[in-house]
Amino acid sequence: MSRIYNFSAGPAMLPVEVLQEAADEMLDYRGCGMSVMEMSHRSKVYETIIQEAQADLRTLLGIPDNYKVLFLQGGASTQFAMIPMNFMKNRKAGYVVTGQWAKKAFAEAKIFGEAVELASSADKTFSYIPDCSDLPITDDMDYVYICENNTIYGTKFKTLPNTKGKNLIADVSSCFLSEPIDVTKYAMLYAGAQKNVGPAGVTICIIREDLITEDVLPQTPTMLRYKIHADNGSMYNTPPAYAIYICGKVFKWLLKTGGLEKRKEVNEEKAKILYDFLDSSELFKGTVEPASRSLMNVPFVTGDSELDAKFIAESKAAGFENLKGHRTVGGMRASIYNAMPVEGVKALVEFMKKFEAENKHA
Ligand code: PMP
Repeated sequence: MSRIYNFSAGPAMLPVEVLQEAADEMLDYRGCGMSVMEMSHRSKVYETIIQEAQADLRTLLGIPDNYKVLFLQGGASTQFAMIPMNFMKNRKAGYVVTGQWAKKAFAEAKIFGEAVELASSADKTFSYIPDCSDLPITDDMDYVYICENNTIYGTKFKTLPNTKGKNLIADVSSCFLSEPIDVTKYAMLYAGAQKNVGPAGVTICIIREDLITEDVLPQTPTMLRYKIHADNGSMYNTPPAYAIYICGKVFKWLLKTGGLEKRKEVNEEKAKILYDFLDSSELFKGTVEPASRSLMNVPFVTGDSELDAKFIAESKAAGFENLKGHRTVGGMRASIYNAMPVEGVKALVEFMKKFEAENKHA
């Protein structure tokens, strides 16, 4: 077997144990003579799979009973529309714009009502998280929206905004289950699975129950109503059955390996190895303000686009995959989600040191 270190921003690495277990169960899932891909989502066997996945996720995150967990489709991007359709009752909401994904959610909300930019870090190419301690939130706003970890720019909210009593809705796609969080601080959080928890195809939404009502914007399609999915246990229609099954395995892997406290410790260790090197390097430098640095996505540059391209090509040849930065920003980006082992980051830093020695005076 030749597994490489894959630094993709998503879909991204999954734990080898999870992939191995899925491989072992591929043809015959626990004696039922078929793959999970082939079974009815209404079967008893599948019911156990989805229920266990939900129960394990609740344990991992300490999700209170008054929050629903939904497994939906349409990617995180569909949430950009579902959120205003379901929650923008006064047709007004506040958005903190900290990168492309927040910007897209903000633009989508404008289709449905007045979306107000509460703060932005566009002035410095989204390289920091703006001060959110006293945002211009007004009483008539239905919610405050953030993208907690900005996958493209590599920034992360270290403290949640002061929402002045308004409901906080957060896109946590690229930091989901990377560390413990207090779910009660959010009215809703959601994540596309394909970064930290599973394959593409499922979006996990955790929503406080009192928000899930039939009172949605007129003409909201049935499939875009949280209530229909909540009332039907994410089985209103065929759920992304296989993706949920893999997420369930990742939840079990996380529980078995020490839960989110342990994950935080390991993720901090990995990020520190990389940031410490970037801070000491004479060739590479991180692009994010230190106080806003993400533990998951680490963008860096040499300052010379030709040298960046050389690094990307040579790192790929050496077995470090997907280090190219997002197509909109260039440079490099190492995404070091939960399944990236510490050894992967250490190996990358060793490679960067070698590259630096060979190219410093180029
Ligand atoms: N939000 C964030 C923070 C993301 O990183 C991404 C995808 N990279 C999205 C939303 C969009 O996700 P999807 O492709 O599942 O719609």
